[in-house]
Amino acid sequence: MTLLDHLPPLRHAHPDRAVCPSTSAVDSAGRLCVGGIALTSIADEFGTPSYVIDEADFRGRIRHYQSALRGVRVVYAGKSLLTTTVARWVAEEGLGLDVCSAGELAVALAAGTDPARIVMHGNAKTVDELRDAVTAGVGTVVVDSLTEISHLAGVVRRPQRVLVRVTPDIDIHGHRAINTGVADQKFGFTVDDAEFGEAVDRISQHRLLTLVGLHCHLGSQITDPTLYGRAIHRLVPAMADIRARHGMTLSELNIGGGHGVPYLAGEPELDLQALSVTVDRALAEACAAADFPRPNITVEPGRAISARAGVTVYRIQTLKSRPGGRTFVAVDGGMSDNPRVALYGANYTVALANRQSASQVTPMTVVGRHCEAGDELARDVLLPADLRPGDLLAFACTGAYNHSMASTYNSVGRPPVVSVADGRVRELVRRETVADLLARDRGALDIGRAPTRPRNSSGCAALLHGE
Ligand SMILES: *Cc1c(COP(=O)(O)O)cnc(C)c1O
Repeated sequence: MTLLDHLPPLRHAHPDRAVCPSTSAVDSAGRLCVGGIALTSIADEFGTPSYVIDEADFRGRIRHYQSALRGVRVVYAGKSLLTTTVARWVAEEGLGLDVCSAGELAVALAAGTDPARIVMHGNAKTVDELRDAVTAGVGTVVVDSLTEISHLAGVVRRPQRVLVRVTPDIDIHGHRAINTGVADQKFGFTVDDAEFGEAVDRISQHRLLTLVGLHCHLGSQITDPTLYGRAIHRLVPAMADIRARHGMTLSELNIGGGHGVPYLAGEPELDLQALSVTVDRALAEACAAADFPRPNITVEPGRAISARAGVTVYRIQTLKSRPGGRTFVAVDGGMSDNPRVALYGANYTVALANRQSASQVTPMTVVGRHCEAGDELARDVLLPADLRPGDLLAFACTGAYNHSMASTYNSVGRPPVVSVADGRVRELVRRETVADLLARDRGALDIGRAPTRPRNSSGCAALLHGE
């Protein structure tokens, strides 16, 4: 039983428990709280929009992986949400960390992540990124092309474990997903292609590169565990083939991430117990059929760990009702802090966060502040009819691919990332100020020298100080 069970039913007061952070609750003043903190206090202290991350939810998801998938190595996909503090949570919980750029690698290293637990990904890693990765001593580099193998061979100075990324040619369409496991796309090698054999040869001929296994990633938002079983049925024979042709017995099989989560009440999620059973069964069958020793399995969830931990808090700026048309609720963020709606048509669960309303709910469209007709955050969601400017809206399930995909469109600074746990608040990333934006603008040097200048009537100096 959770705190929510003791509260009166508040139909539109809080997001559904399946999609909102595990510590979500409504306090006696009717305010939505996460981690024991009212979202109104976060809005007061850090402004809006703000990303709020429930540390207990994030850690709890990791522990669920560890208990449901025994014997499986879990590596957190940092691209879904990464700050140094998040990287520390991941390390403290005993997970490895996927990175896919020099920047993500730097964040992981700045957090003190053991390089041996870092996996370096990317379909277009630069020579500099590869050098950074091998110099840092990352545990595994996942190679994606023949060119990359040449580049890696040029920069490696000590023994380096390598996985080869392959596309198992599994079409996950019709599974409301983003597809990366089919042959005709930009990632990895096709197993039955000559280039794949050449990749294996080139790696095995290099004295410092050790091919330890294969990697695949089927796509995202997968809720059918049998797709991972099919990937194992494709890849174990490929490993047996490598043994036959190249005389090497690979011991690792990384079946990627893409574990689906619900964004709306009632949507399915990937069941980890079912995944565990499917993986075990597929491994047993495929290894028996190929007479191949059981490889160690790795999974790389990102969204399934970070998405539900996050909530975005916006403040309503204006409301407009079109005669005979929709009601538009405009908030102070939008596609710059959450591009997923414009990019993928993603749906979100929305709730009034600062008070209870006894009003009827009515369909409204939440739009952003950006100069784009497509800047919608949620279409026709049910919200109380008495919404007014100044009210706070909470968007659930924004922990993944929001902060990490944010832009500064319209020169709007990116929101802060704030974590909450046991009634404590911690600022993980501060808000991006106009001064931050101007700091990169070489033409702004003149104004940039102004910090000591007294504040002028236009408030320019105040802006430069991010006040
Ligand atoms: C994006 C990605 C992941 C994580 O995907 P989620 O949908 O967040 O689980 C894992 N592995 C690779 C190689 C990826 O590109």
